[in-house]
Amino acid sequence: MCGIIGIENNDNAAVLASAGMLTLQHRGEESAGITISGKKKMKTFTAMGLVSKIFNEDILLNKLPGTAAIGHVRYTTSAKSSLTNAQPFQISCIHGNIAVAHNGNITNFLKIKKEVLKKGAIFNHTSDTEILLHLIAMSKGSLVNVIASSMRKLEGAFSLVILTDRTLIGVRDEHGFRPLVLGKIENSYIIASESSAIEIIGGAYIRDIKPGEVIIIEKGQIKKSFLYKTSEKQNTCIFEQVYFSRPDSIMFGKTVKEARIKMGQFLALQMKNIKADIVMPVPDTGYFAALGFARTSKILFENGFVRNHYVGRSFIKPSQNLRDFTARLKLRPIREVVYGKDIILIDDSIVRGTTSKRLINLLKNYGVKKIHFAVSCPPVIGSCYYGIDTPSKEHLIAANNSVEQIRKYLGADSLTFLNLGNLVKACSYVNNKDEDDIFCKSCFTGKYFTKISKTTYKESY
Ligand code: AMP
Repeated sequence: MCGIIGIENNDNAAVLASAGMLTLQHRGEESAGITISGKKKMKTFTAMGLVSKIFNEDILLNKLPGTAAIGHVRYTTSAKSSLTNAQPFQISCIHGNIAVAHNGNITNFLKIKKEVLKKGAIFNHTSDTEILLHLIAMSKGSLVNVIASSMRKLEGAFSLVILTDRTLIGVRDEHGFRPLVLGKIENSYIIASESSAIEIIGGAYIRDIKPGEVIIIEKGQIKKSFLYKTSEKQNTCIFEQVYFSRPDSIMFGKTVKEARIKMGQFLALQMKNIKADIVMPVPDTGYFAALGFARTSKILFENGFVRNHYVGRSFIKPSQNLRDFTARLKLRPIREVVYGKDIILIDDSIVRGTTSKRLINLLKNYGVKKIHFAVSCPPVIGSCYYGIDTPSKEHLIAANNSVEQIRKYLGADSLTFLNLGNLVKACSYVNNKDEDDIFCKSCFTGKYFTKISKTTYKESY
């Protein structure tokens, strides 16, 4: 789980990259970094923590002079949450200085690592991203050939921005697991995980980078764009629209907000026999689904929680203790809204089940009469190996319990999950005939598109 951005041909490259990274902060809160090139020697600055804490005026204006920049925000699990693994990674090799920022999860990482170790490679980090730099450093030929041949060796999910001394390169894996978009601000191209990061800094979203596409940008021009590989199947992560992406980002020609509204509308149809006084979202991700639910069901939409925005995402803190504590600080019910009511409570997903159980308990303490819990995606039964941090299968409540068992555990009066067909419809292109085919739904089906072995690397996002 990471956010990436790259900008080229701009005297404010580092400032704009950091502003974009602030917009992508929800994709990772643990570390952030920027690499710059184009003016002086390539330089990388990384640190643990939030973008706004790390990148002050002095660092951006005086310490990171460049006309091109790539940036990265990172989320990891506790074991790997360290400055060593903060990206971008920068190396110096036969092709000059190269830096890379990665969102995704390379599933054949260990196999490639063994191969390059035999050839004498030295590893500084424990993240899968480093193998990319080894592959590039060990390849011969033009930049285009080096990138293409290196990418062809990788399996799994990778959206990348790569920076050389004078070139910005964007790459999206052949399946298009993670998003990557192209935009422009004045004479500068921008590549980013989400369109909102481009638009918020005054740029315009142009298009999605295609699955398998490499795009090479120099001096404000797209020098070349080509497919390093084509896949018969696009597998874009559907969980991006359920939970991960910002609601104002564009995916498949519409905002994520629109998809979430539809998820709520379909949920309302699935639950048309359930009566309640109010529909209430779990902030923030449940908001648009609850709005859609209210529009279709004609049940009153109410906001019954106050959220403390100074507390980060509860899930995003690495240890269970910290998670519990931040969750308590984060949401508080408003008694007048919920007391004595039958409510439909909407959240985007249930993963371990701890958040929902805690919230339902909390609401009961505030005098709620009945809670019908509705979830705007199907039960999560499989771990993600393509870049979303989900716990291993034994910790996924839906992988080990029936819906009725989960309902009992949560203490809800009823529990409804959006069914997969409805989720796909909510997220699809308008009028796309083949819509069922463009999404990765592995976390809901337990079926994976690439070989997932016991040694598949899952600790880098
Ligand atoms: P849980 O307590 O594990 O069931 O957490 C579910 C909550 O975490 C939901 O409210 C989601 O908004 C959020 N969530 C779902 N998936 C993730 C993820 N991969 N990382 C962080 N938060 C998540």
